[in-house]
Amino acid sequence: MDSRNRIFIVTALYFQSIQALPVISLTPARNITFDALPHRVSLVLPTLVPQHKNRGTESTTMTAMLAVHDLCVSYSTGEGELHPALVGVHLELQPGEILGVLGESGSGKSTLGTALLRLLPRNACITRGAVVFEGRKLLQLTSEELRQIRGQRISIIFQEPSRALHPTMRAGQQVSRVLAAHGINRKKSLREKTRRAFDAVFPGETERFLESYPHQLSGGQRQRVLIAQAIACEPSVVIADEPTASLDPTTQSEILNVFRSLKKQLKVAMIFITHNPALLVGLADRVMVLYAGRVVEAGTVEKVLTSPAHPYTRALFQSIPPEIAESGNSRKAKLMAIPADLSQESLLPEGCCFQARCTEKMEVCSAAEPTLINLGDSQSVSCFKYTH
Ligand code: ATP
Ligand code: MG
Repeated sequence: MDSRNRIFIVTALYFQSIQALPVISLTPARNITFDALPHRVSLVLPTLVPQHKNRGTESTTMTAMLAVHDLCVSYSTGEGELHPALVGVHLELQPGEILGVLGESGSGKSTLGTALLRLLPRNACITRGAVVFEGRKLLQLTSEELRQIRGQRISIIFQEPSRALHPTMRAGQQVSRVLAAHGINRKKSLREKTRRAFDAVFPGETERFLESYPHQLSGGQRQRVLIAQAIACEPSVVIADEPTASLDPTTQSEILNVFRSLKKQLKVAMIFITHNPALLVGLADRVMVLYAGRVVEAGTVEKVLTSPAHPYTRALFQSIPPEIAESGNSRKAKLMAIPADLSQESLLPEGCCFQARCTEKMEVCSAAEPTLINLGDSQSVSCFKYTH
């Protein structure tokens, strides 16, 4: 592996081992109570929720910067069988747009994030589909062509934040190394670009943190250095795979604010992966809900969070702990659990992938697989309830 790839992967490795925290707290921007996340949380929505016209998971009004068509990924198991992890996923991302990808553990969120940059493990196989970035088909590029895009045009912040930073290098150097790996070698440019990345994640405290070693930083500060690495090359797209999963609620909220400010200042497009819908409030423009590797619902964040259409999305929202309510507003509501879990193969029979866990199952659900239909008003759903 050459040094550029190594730096890219090491940056990313930070994310692979910590399980997601179930709770968050949010900083109010504009008080809007989401009646859909409803009995659980009173959330806040900032003023900016662009209303892209939506066809399924696609916005149709602008040319997509990143488009995924019919993406299917399977993992081969020890017995030589292929286990599908993504099935026919479509999505489009516009410049500066933030798409939240939501789903429980095992729904295929990380598989999607890594498949976009062909960073899947060896036992994974992209069986169908296309990924088009700025007009180029990423799945067809050579390794060298792809390397020029990874980290530079599209960067990824991985899920497990355990060992990504070099323990004996100052934080600033670690960001400079990423820039150097992408061909920025002049000292002046390196210094300027590193400083600019730090300004974005440590506003007003750049000097102090440039010179810090990882052991002098808190978990949240280390996370900021990793975000600085991800944005240093000024990519068009950042894929953030559960970037706040290992943090306590207060730090999580601070890091979310960093992402919100990146959206505002840098206008970088983002795919923000999470299992917690509350994290998308005030950050995402649109949401795509994954279940068993399928898109079961998509739409504007306002629409999906306030009026979830798919029984799975609703169940997911009702299983959020009440502590994520606005401070002082938590209630002692009974926490709902979605019966069973995704790891049971028997849960994916013919027909709708959610039928075995669905409380609204109909006869048709075991006979055929629903497709994503447009409900109008910036929302689409894959459920027979809306066609039968
Ligand atoms: P989490 O929230 O726990 O991170 P996720 O939504 O990111 O979950 P993925 O990691 O994408 O889910 O996994 C999707 C499916 O693919 C799961 O069924 C998982 O067991 C399977 N899978 C993931 N990685 C591998 C692998 N290396 N080998 C075999 N199966 C895998
Ligand atoms: Mg994951």
